[in-house]
Amino acid sequence: MRVRKRKGAEEHLENNPQYVILNPEEAKGRWREVFGNDNPVHIEVGSGKGAFITGMAAQNPQINYIGIDIQRSVLSYALDKVLASNLPNIKLLLVDGSSLTNYFADGEVDLMYLNFSDPWPKTRHEKRRLTYGSFLATYEQILPAEGEIHFKTDNRGLFEYSLASFSQYGMILKKVWLDLHASDYEGNVMTEYEQKFSRKGQVIYRVEAQFK
Ligand code: SAH
Repeated sequence: MRVRKRKGAEEHLENNPQYVILNPEEAKGRWREVFGNDNPVHIEVGSGKGAFITGMAAQNPQINYIGIDIQRSVLSYALDKVLASNLPNIKLLLVDGSSLTNYFADGEVDLMYLNFSDPWPKTRHEKRRLTYGSFLATYEQILPAEGEIHFKTDNRGLFEYSLASFSQYGMILKKVWLDLHASDYEGNVMTEYEQKFSRKGQVIYRVEAQFK
């Protein structure tokens, strides 16, 4: 997601510590305390402007959601949505998906989502893809045994690559959708990119992959 640098983004994030976790290293191992309950914790890595994470949090009040993005301006737009939704079960983190073990203890995350991750189509950029093996090793550590990654994209190249990467890593492909919107899948919450690309007629792919 490309956005222009937003003036005041940093102050906006800093002024809302009830939603934006400013010292995430300190939250490691105590996310249930941060949320003030024992509900499951689901994260989205690369949450963009936050339509998915706020939609999911509204739909599932018994689950705690954390939206994670590496771009300050993007996260500040997600914060706008979170403030407007006024939900207690959502937090935001400005960190890199490759360093999640600094912020989450082993098994502390119950489920993770990747939506419309940057495709990095050039082979020499393979290591930057959020479904590359080294990222999977990071996710495996913070998820419980048999934890799952739920991934959606419109990018066929990235989808095929990710199916291969999951399976090469030894994950089980529990379910695969080759056209999510034409399927009987219920309760789908659309992301910003999903709205944009499906309007253009793009098919949406989805997979639920499980560590074993
Ligand atoms: N999920 C949103 C945004 C998709 S764009 C949607 O579907 O609309 C991909 C997002 O991933 C961008 O906002 C980008 O900043 C973020 N991103 C890319 N690499 C990342 C990384 N290593 N860690 C965290 N976020 C990352």
